[in-house]
Amino acid sequence: MQKSHKERLYKVLVIGDLGVGKTSIIKRYVQQSFSGNYRATIGVDFALKVLSWGGETVRLQLWDIAGQERFGNMTRVYYREAVGAFIVFDVTRRATFEAVTKWKEDLDSKLTLSNGRRVSTVLLANKCDHGCELQSHDAARMEQFCRDSGFVGWFRTSAKDNININEAANCLVKHIIASE
Ligand code: GDP
Ligand code: MG
Repeated sequence: MQKSHKERLYKVLVIGDLGVGKTSIIKRYVQQSFSGNYRATIGVDFALKVLSWGGETVRLQLWDIAGQERFGNMTRVYYREAVGAFIVFDVTRRATFEAVTKWKEDLDSKLTLSNGRRVSTVLLANKCDHGCELQSHDAARMEQFCRDSGFVGWFRTSAKDNININEAANCLVKHIIASE
């Protein structure tokens, strides 16, 4: 008998402070493009990425924040039914890293999976094309931070130079599937 092809659709949130590169990361991942022109997102935005995953089709519905990040939290309605998240900070701006904990707490307080587990969340240290040397984000400390804060992993990324975005997404998908 032929194995039927399963289809999986996952809602994935991309959160973090204003200007850290959320929209740029989504664009890079989905459209393979980058624009240096700053344009704040207005309105709710979705982007769909279709992946082939071990013979199955995985659809990632990426939810971009639409300017509400200036308030530092989102509504339950926005988070509803998400199964994964990226929390993004900008390696060149310390305050955006400090905000990561606040975003993680907001997410965990408003959303749990139907099986009671927390949603898989990957931390992205973005703009590493000009900030990777920052000592404050050295690997050992970041790994400890991830364990303490409940992130399944972290990556230095660059939407500009296309660094580690596919890797981070694959890590997230792997954990989403494992926690189903
Ligand atoms: P958002 O507010 O989190 O959605 O951030 P945007 O995606 O709008 O990006 C804010 C600014 O940072 C824009 O000017 C982007 O061009 C820039 N930017 C985003 N990602 C990167 C990156 O990886 N490297 C560099 N150098 N700039 C980036
Ligand atoms: Mg944006």
